[in-house]
Amino acid sequence: MNSSEREKRERALKVYEILKKEFPDARCLLNYRNSFELLIATILAAQCTDARVNRVTPELFKVFPDFKKMAEADREKLESIIRPTGFFRNKAKSLINVSKIIMENYNGRLPETVEELSSLPGVGRKTGNVVAANCFALPAVIVDTHVKRVAARLGFSKEKQPDKIECELKNLIPESEQTRFSYAVNFHGRYICRAGKPACDSCPVRNLCPFPEDTA
Ligand code: SF4
Repeated sequence: MNSSEREKRERALKVYEILKKEFPDARCLLNYRNSFELLIATILAAQCTDARVNRVTPELFKVFPDFKKMAEADREKLESIIRPTGFFRNKAKSLINVSKIIMENYNGRLPETVEELSSLPGVGRKTGNVVAANCFALPAVIVDTHVKRVAARLGFSKEKQPDKIECELKNLIPESEQTRFSYAVNFHGRYICRAGKPACDSCPVRNLCPFPEDTA
């Protein structure tokens, strides 16, 4: 490890220590009761807020409560329920396809590794990591839009592709802390290091961040 990598890792750990205290309740904000519901909710959360997904899923899970029912879903009925989440035609197709695969290839039970989860149709690394972390307690770096933005501003990754950012962040944070780190950074991005105008003046990790100086 060279000195700039060592510096980055030390800084990442310091940032994490601060954000962990700042956001002790940082967690997945999607409502779910089991791995089926979390997978479906996470697919719906693409290009949509968690709050909006949470408004749609109670009815969705009443009508389609498991992979079997979702695999056999009437497309129009499904589309009408998930319409508020946007891209509803593609999402309906994904939900039906992934449910069919899980019924046919996995006996109706989700596989429990990030690799298998991520290889399901319509399920990328982010969704695979969300389910692995929250349902199977596996260590996971979850790179969503907030984590991607904060990682760039804090100088932890210059990569654009989420899977490459995931790889870089994994090198900075011990495995046992990766899930908590992901949610602490996610909350920091939601509430302080916001997309439009980051609240640098009140940021608890400002002294560890190159971004204000870079843009001054
Ligand atoms: S100082 Fe500003 S840019 Fe840097 S992490 Fe804090 S809010 Fe984000």
